[in-house]
Amino acid sequence: MNSAVIGFPRVGTLRELKFASEKYFRGEIDSEELEEVASKLRATHWKNQKDAGIDFISSNDFSFYDGMLDTAVLLNVIPKKYKELNLDELDTYFSMARGYQKDGNDVSALAMKKWFNTNYHYMVPEIYDDTEIKLTGKKVFKEFQEAEKQGIKTKPVLIGPFTFLKLARCYGEKNAKDFSDDIIKAYIEIVRKLKELGATWIQFDEPSLVTDLDDNDWQLFKKLYLEILGNKYGIKILLQTYFGDIRDYYDEIISLDFDGIGLDFIEGKENINLIKKYGFPSDKVLFAGLINGKNIWKANYERVFSKLEELKEYSSNIVLSTSCSLLHVPYTLEHETDLKPVVKKYFAFAIEKLQELKEISVLIETDDYKVEKEFAENRALYSKTAGENSGEISKIDRLNKDDFIRLPKRSERQKLQKKVLNLPMFPTTTIGSFPQTTEVKKNRTSFRNGEIGKEQYDRKVYELIERCIRKQEEIGIDVLVHGEYERNDMVEFFGENLDGYVFTKKAWVQSYGTRCVKPPIIFSDVKRIKPITVEYSKYAQSLTDKPVKGMLTGPVTILNWSFPREDISLEKMAYQIAIAIREEVLDLEKAGIKIIQIDEAALKEKLPIRKSDWYSEYLDFAIKAFRLCHSGVKPETQIHTHMCYSEFNEIIKDIDNMDADVISFEASRSKLTILDALKANNFETEVGPGVYDIHSPRVPFVREIVEAIEQMLEKIDKDKLWINPDCGLKTRGIPETEASLINLVEATKIIRSRY
Ligand code: GLN
Ligand code: ZN
Repeated sequence: MNSAVIGFPRVGTLRELKFASEKYFRGEIDSEELEEVASKLRATHWKNQKDAGIDFISSNDFSFYDGMLDTAVLLNVIPKKYKELNLDELDTYFSMARGYQKDGNDVSALAMKKWFNTNYHYMVPEIYDDTEIKLTGKKVFKEFQEAEKQGIKTKPVLIGPFTFLKLARCYGEKNAKDFSDDIIKAYIEIVRKLKELGATWIQFDEPSLVTDLDDNDWQLFKKLYLEILGNKYGIKILLQTYFGDIRDYYDEIISLDFDGIGLDFIEGKENINLIKKYGFPSDKVLFAGLINGKNIWKANYERVFSKLEELKEYSSNIVLSTSCSLLHVPYTLEHETDLKPVVKKYFAFAIEKLQELKEISVLIETDDYKVEKEFAENRALYSKTAGENSGEISKIDRLNKDDFIRLPKRSERQKLQKKVLNLPMFPTTTIGSFPQTTEVKKNRTSFRNGEIGKEQYDRKVYELIERCIRKQEEIGIDVLVHGEYERNDMVEFFGENLDGYVFTKKAWVQSYGTRCVKPPIIFSDVKRIKPITVEYSKYAQSLTDKPVKGMLTGPVTILNWSFPREDISLEKMAYQIAIAIREEVLDLEKAGIKIIQIDEAALKEKLPIRKSDWYSEYLDFAIKAFRLCHSGVKPETQIHTHMCYSEFNEIIKDIDNMDADVISFEASRSKLTILDALKANNFETEVGPGVYDIHSPRVPFVREIVEAIEQMLEKIDKDKLWINPDCGLKTRGIPETEASLINLVEATKIIRSRY
């Protein structure tokens, strides 16, 4: 059986691309040096796959920032504001990704959105009425040729035209459909050129097919592909889907002239049933996504083989593939020298998954794979689950209805809290973290490397906290934070202090652009062993009369940003973590902390792609898990939460139902569209829609912030509005952070004088 990989991680095993790009941004290396790092990485990644014996290796899965952005540039979807900067190709590209504020220019970046149900973010292409979609880019061709020189014939990968148009934003009168003729022409041109260069297969990624589609969508899809597939120039075209199933139009999709169809059998629950119901055409190749591209556990061979056996009854032309791009798992286990062998033996990262692909595709061809050593070993491994231990499940069993309800009701709490906290109108605050400067990071690395002890480490953290408090007082913020200097990551830090977690050293996964995260792994039942943040918060509060927020990460976010177990339900894991956070909340309250923020930055992220699964598979337990964290506090203790990305219009009632007292969220980049939805739904929670975008170093002007607040006040009650940036400040530098906060406070004063 042949094997295939949808896409490979790009940043390099030691994040080489990140570091090179950042050097380039700082002007420390030139574009040639950056290109060199990139081409070396590509070469290594292709070689890794070739050495593992993968038959279908992708090219153009590499990106300096993001694949949607690459596709936009390929198709000339470059808004004028960036073209007019007159930069070269690479810098134009980066100006779209990061914004450009230099030499009197001031252009903000494209919006960024979460990529389906992952923690990866893509750049949202902007299409205007005068946008001329046509093939202008070269990347896909260059990379194909580059691999060819290395002796590897790759299948070039592109975001398909349907997903591209679905995810792009049209700003003028025209809508996506109006651009279909042009985009068809461009894709046909791409196919033709790739044929000329000698490509035999092309992969079009169409993850939008796994979302809820209506007939208009389907008509668009059909129009695009009827024409493109009518002009294949003899190239084989693989329609690749992932993150779910294609239940709405399966029978129609398989009747189109694709040569291969890639289906996800990990997250796409219905795919197997669709095949059973409608069959699978014998003239097409089924790329069967059976190796999980999103989780780090070794494949359970018994399960994979039985799926394969099932599929073989419907197709004699199967290629074993990953369920999605391996972009979403870390690179390799090789650097994880600290993992205990009893733990490590359960894991497979990207490189190890290549071996699994190969091993399974070879084994399946043997007479009786069950007698083969590799199969037996894998079966032995999974004969007992990795994570079984303590009695935490019974704590969950003891939960009852009241544990999820906070009393008295919110409107009464709000009155009480106003009195006790005595904050000015439009209270100003921040989301929690302050810049993670070299000094902050060095303290942590020195501690981790054993160069300094815990005491010296904490002394530094306390010093940083004090400086942070003083700074906030000086700037005039009302509700302070301690700065989060003790954590490098809002999930990893909690994981490290909870029982049941396992940590990696270099297992980075790209989140956006050069930003990578290192999700911890839930290995067994989760429990809190001791207080986690209490000392830091207590110290910060001791320095000032202003309230300092306790700062925790919520259970749903901890769960969503971890690699979860596969042997118990997400619901159980969420409640285990919620119980741990609840214990921490109560300890903070006991220590005199009056405001506690429980971040649910990632709540929206794992919302099932299809609406019909929202409650049964997710929201029913996610909202309860959050409520479980804070239902035990006193009425006057104010519970805040924070969510990144405000695109929760559709679940606004559920957000309100988390029953927090205050919520802050990103709003600046989504052009405040959320505000109407808040109003329409009589949103009860007090709100702090971010007044400026922290994802770029740009300093907002006072008048911009004033304007944003005025806009907010059109929709939000004046005694319910908080003023804050749209997310934590940890990725920013000190100068722009201070300048921005000074402007934020200044703007608030202007607003206060008006109301
Ligand atoms: N409290 C966190 C911080 O400020 C929240 C981060 C986030 O929302 N991603 O960094
Ligand atoms: Zn955030």
